[in-house]
Amino acid sequence: MSFCDYHIHSNNSTDGHHSVMEICQRAVEAGLQEIAITDHFEPTENNQAYGEYNPIHHLFDTLKAKAAFRNRLRVKFGIEMGQPERYPEEAGMLLDTYPYDYVLASTHKLPGDVDMGDIDYVHADVKYYCRQYLRHLKELVKWNRFDCIGHLDLPKRYAAKCGITISFMDYREEVEEILKILIENGKGIEINTSGLRQHARTCLPDLDIVKLYKSLGGQVITIGSDAHYAGDVGKGIVKGLEIAKEAGFEYITVFDGRKPEWKRISQSASVYAVQKDYLKIACNS
Ligand SMILES: [Zn+2]
Ligand SMILES: [Zn+2]
Repeated sequence: MSFCDYHIHSNNSTDGHHSVMEICQRAVEAGLQEIAITDHFEPTENNQAYGEYNPIHHLFDTLKAKAAFRNRLRVKFGIEMGQPERYPEEAGMLLDTYPYDYVLASTHKLPGDVDMGDIDYVHADVKYYCRQYLRHLKELVKWNRFDCIGHLDLPKRYAAKCGITISFMDYREEVEEILKILIENGKGIEINTSGLRQHARTCLPDLDIVKLYKSLGGQVITIGSDAHYAGDVGKGIVKGLEIAKEAGFEYITVFDGRKPEWKRISQSASVYAVQKDYLKIACNS
């Protein structure tokens, strides 16, 4: 069994609260074997260079942790790029300059810097926004300079906060089109477990879309907690693995220098049970 958390924000993200070292300490306590620190590069129309992200600090902190935790935890240099297809020069400069292990790409904002989290889902035309989101997600997927797409059905997270349930299976045609491009390009999706500890109470995406990705021929799955606090590192990873297994995956994917490697999910039942209890407690705390 591979317990890996491939979506974690350190205090090198403006909304992260703990250092890479604190995160690694927590990851070891939680029984994880590998993590990727995926700090935000979140350019906007008014702030295309996004100087808030300092790749040198991020790289330095990651290398320091790699050395300090060697033999105990594999620490990968990741990044979460928000809407990079709209800022290809800025995003490309980072990708061409720094030795990332793993690149997660997400659509957080619509043009006009409309954040998916700022929409009033109670009064807005939810279908319109979901379709807009998917339209831009497709553009992102076509850009293709990433390894996996982050939280594919993100609007679900924020709509749930407003008491509204969204299923992206209602937009199956658009979702399938996106998944097919990903698969053709050998790219993956993540199972983002943050929804389990938020209002949605499910992963982003959940089993239905993970299954659809698998049925269309997808082979690249990562699992990430989207932790912004050290205390959330590893939360829900067991549930993520269960979803991957149920969808038919025997392996999850990890990355080294942008190259995918596959780790078998199953292992001897006893070790799994111990880990599972631990991470379940971590998930429920
Ligand atoms: Zn995100
Ligand atoms: Zn994130």
